[in-house]
Amino acid sequence: MSPQPLVPRMRGFGTTIFDEMSKLARDNDAVNLGQGFPDTSPPAAVLRAAQQAMDAGENQYPPGPGIPSLRRAVAEHQQRFHGLGYDPDTEVTVTFGATEALASSILALCDAGDEVLVLEPAYDSYPAVIALAGAVERRVPLEPPAMGETPTPATGTATPTPASTGWRLDVDRLAAAVGPRTRVLVLNTPHNPTGTVLDADTLQAVAEVCVEHDLTVITDEVYEHLVYDGVHTPIATFPGMRERTVTISSAGKTFSCTGWKVGWACAPGELTTALRTTKQFLSYAGGAPLQHGIATALGLGDDVYAEVADVHRQRRDLLVDGLAGVGLPVTRSAATYFVTADVTPLGFDDGEAFCRWAPEGIGVAAVPVSAFVRDAEAVRSLVRFAVCKRDEVLREGVRRLGTLVGVVPGEESA
Ligand code: PMP
Ligand code: GLN
Repeated sequence: MSPQPLVPRMRGFGTTIFDEMSKLARDNDAVNLGQGFPDTSPPAAVLRAAQQAMDAGENQYPPGPGIPSLRRAVAEHQQRFHGLGYDPDTEVTVTFGATEALASSILALCDAGDEVLVLEPAYDSYPAVIALAGAVERRVPLEPPAMGETPTPATGTATPTPASTGWRLDVDRLAAAVGPRTRVLVLNTPHNPTGTVLDADTLQAVAEVCVEHDLTVITDEVYEHLVYDGVHTPIATFPGMRERTVTISSAGKTFSCTGWKVGWACAPGELTTALRTTKQFLSYAGGAPLQHGIATALGLGDDVYAEVADVHRQRRDLLVDGLAGVGLPVTRSAATYFVTADVTPLGFDDGEAFCRWAPEGIGVAAVPVSAFVRDAEAVRSLVRFAVCKRDEVLREGVRRLGTLVGVVPGEESA
């Protein structure tokens, strides 16, 4: 056997940063503020619905595109929250998480040598699947916000770091990246890892570029219900976009069931036929009882959706204020499971080195923002911390970080 059996185009991907950091967290019994998964359970009604489906014998292969009741629930969800109409039979496909929806879409729509635009920082599965397809990735950098001033907690300034918000997409840079082989834009808003929500003016301008250059958009909206400031608008709602957009989401974040891996893709007929063709050879279809659980989940009342956003907004504030309190410049994310902070005041100018050290060093796991970019220079000292944990876990994480600078949270100004 060749000493390097992995095909060249997949070399360099290694083990995902999320798996790597969660392993370090487990091995060191660290507070895991790395991989984005909550430490609370899905709503009881959702658990019950999945259990009932199991008890009722829904344990065999579901239909390839997903069970009809879930496809109907997804279509109703798109109408209810976004005013987007999809035919559950021909325009909605249930997938093994958003990850499989992304993979099946990219593999269906991008041929070898086609160019695909992605926003940078980029979620790890985009470059990997683009490589699987033999396509060529072109990155369009988001521009980082100015981070707040670092306070000097050790000397007792009472003013916390002014948290900043918002990375920006310069749509002219996006337009300039379009070439003759560009086929697809992979969009992600609300955005992981920056926590930015692209605003309607930006999305309108993105839509115009896509229409002008006849691009197909694959949009990853898994954090659609975890918005704390601002409004999430699906790009499919802009003029000329529905017919050229695959809208992807998943139940994992909204209903605290990331391990269920129930996701979906909504797209007009021909795009749906294309992605179903590849999807059936990735996993075919699975998770039958879980699909029943999510059919119930999507139909829950507005109060359930509002609560998930409220709880996570409070957690974001707790973590942002805590990180600022121990002296870290931090971005008050508008959305998602994440905030990003600069760890320089902790004595590290390299976020990756910090993340490799911290699980054992102080019992905290996090994810370096450099894992989402090609050239780490501009984000070298930035680290992503997950907010989707119970308050006491977030507080303990902050306390442990504070030990590095001699700060006891709550006593910063003592
Ligand atoms: N896209 C983004 C931006 C994510 O953060 C994640 C991680 N949860 C996924 C896709 C994958 O979603 P799923 O777990 O449903 O496959
Ligand atoms: N989306 C999650 C994150 O960004 C991780 C999911 C995964 O590990 N694939 O942390």
